[in-house]
Amino acid sequence: MIYFDKVTKKYADETRALDGVTFTIEPKEFVSIVGHSGAGKTTILKMILAEETPSTGSVFFESVNIHDLAPRLLNGYRRKIGTVFQDFRLLPHKTTFENVAFAMEVAGHTDEEIESDVPHVLELVDLGHKLWNFPHELSSGEKQRVAIARAIVNQPDVLIADEPTGNLDPISTFEIVQIFKKINDLGTTVILTTHNKGVIDFLKRRVITMDAGKIIRDDKHGHYIL
Ligand code: ADP
Repeated sequence: MIYFDKVTKKYADETRALDGVTFTIEPKEFVSIVGHSGAGKTTILKMILAEETPSTGSVFFESVNIHDLAPRLLNGYRRKIGTVFQDFRLLPHKTTFENVAFAMEVAGHTDEEIESDVPHVLELVDLGHKLWNFPHELSSGEKQRVAIARAIVNQPDVLIADEPTGNLDPISTFEIVQIFKKINDLGTTVILTTHNKGVIDFLKRRVITMDAGKIIRDDKHGHYIL
């Protein structure tokens, strides 16, 4: 469970990126965060990743105040969360297989585990036929599917995706959203930010709408209203 308790984030120039934000995300929920550019969406994701600290208020993950975690515990905490970004962030000189395997190596998995898990997770994102291609040989939608496979291969509790379909055409967008739904159905909490009305209307899941650092709507089966 993720709990934001009256979180305010002020930057040095007095910008309030978040302004008294309170909400809870339950395990296995699928939550979209929408809002105009600058509304505070990315700041929420950075708070969950402990990349930013609140100016006031607290963020809890499974009842632990994550901004009180000792630095040596932070890496372990962050392994509970997989991340996907708009710009894919693949390693250009590694193949599909190697990009995903690298995430397992860093987490300390054995070669046997890597050989068995990587093809399996790439099947899950329908990329079993592109194991040995490099990123420049993949379409944007395929690159994002590699990034998703990399994000979930260590079985995180939560998958965070910041504008994951921002660089994709409508068909790839639809495929990616289907994959997020599948991952959620398998038991992972999914939190994504998006500007895409079609994505929200297709998902029919919870939508948190932000404006100027505040939550202005929180709908269980939301539509895109801005
Ligand atoms: P969104 O993801 O909804 O576009 P952000 O969370 O990135 O919005 O930003 C919210 C507000 O905080 C914006 O006004 C942005 O300019 C400001 N902001 C974000 N990061 C910084 C920073 N490092 N320093 C100063 N202001 C920032």
